[in-house]
Amino acid sequence: DNKTKGGGEQNLTVCLRVRPINEDEILAGATCIAHKVEDRVLVLMDPMEDPEDILRANRSREKQFVFDSCFDGASTQEDVYNSSTKFLIDNVITGYNATVFAYGATGAGKTYTMLGTDGDPGIMARTLNDLFISMEKTSEDMKYKVTMSYLEIYNEMIRDLLNPSSGILDLREDSKGGIQVAGLTELKARSTDEVMHLLLQGNTQRTQEPTAANKTSSRSHAVLQVIVRQQNRVKNTMQEIRTGKLFLIDLAGSERAANTHNRGKRMVEGAHINRSLLALGNCINALTDKNGKGYINYRDSKLTRLLKDALGGNCKTVMIAHISPASIHFEESRNTLVYADRAKHI
Ligand code: ADP
Ligand code: MG
Repeated sequence: DNKTKGGGEQNLTVCLRVRPINEDEILAGATCIAHKVEDRVLVLMDPMEDPEDILRANRSREKQFVFDSCFDGASTQEDVYNSSTKFLIDNVITGYNATVFAYGATGAGKTYTMLGTDGDPGIMARTLNDLFISMEKTSEDMKYKVTMSYLEIYNEMIRDLLNPSSGILDLREDSKGGIQVAGLTELKARSTDEVMHLLLQGNTQRTQEPTAANKTSSRSHAVLQVIVRQQNRVKNTMQEIRTGKLFLIDLAGSERAANTHNRGKRMVEGAHINRSLLALGNCINALTDKNGKGYINYRDSKLTRLLKDALGGNCKTVMIAHISPASIHFEESRNTLVYADRAKHI
């Protein structure tokens, strides 16, 4: 396979989005501790609530993090889409695979970025909309088919969010080593409104478990899989010549199970979530290893198995890390920034 990379030269892009502080946080006495200071630079302040904590007082209270793109409360849904995902459209149309995932603690803004609202759609609907437009532009020589599937991974089990009654689905490897979810609904999507409707509907089917940390803590990974199949109208009559796959993923909350007062059943869920997030982190570290020695172990979790042919190699990966700017979420935000930083520099 002598395919060359499409688009920009780097294969991993790491972005950060800081949502606006909200009323509940202000009522809880929180202040803003995360500030975008330059185009790509974020500064996080240690709120250091305990003045007796000598160890922390002796450390610098400010830490700086640099990203490929940094978004704050002034950034629109369109800004985030344009700088994080739009460049992947051409790649997918020409037959390359790509993955975009939203990372961060519950409440940090992942679903807002990926799904958005009816009036202000997020990355998922905007991506499909741009794919429709691109398809139309080139439709004289080529015939395209765009399909979408929407699934969740919860407790290492896969469920179809477009057809929840189908129960738990299995991952299968085809004869060429490609990964498929057996029995997963693949819909031909036609318009942005239709896509948004399907996604919002599907999202109501996600497994939401209340925890002590947050009422609507999202413990499932939601995965939108977009497949673009392309046929040349002139040559080879109707033979399929290229297939590009794009995964857009709203990950489960990254807060540690240890931070929530969970016991029993939810501790198991926490372990599974950490397993998928850990496996994803390990895969990303391996693919950014400059010496090319990093062994990518996709088999460690359902999530990484599903992404096997869309992570690494010639595939583009975009991580959008999310944080709240509020001082009461300092530990969570620092954990997220360190995770994103590790993905970027290792
Ligand atoms: P997560 O999916 O990470 O748990 P959500 O996306 O549900 O978090 O965001 C939590 C709350 O904050 C929601 O009410 C959401 O509408 C709001 N929110 C998140 N990001 C933004 C943003 N960039 N601008 C305005 N509101 C936001
Ligand atoms: Mg969410």
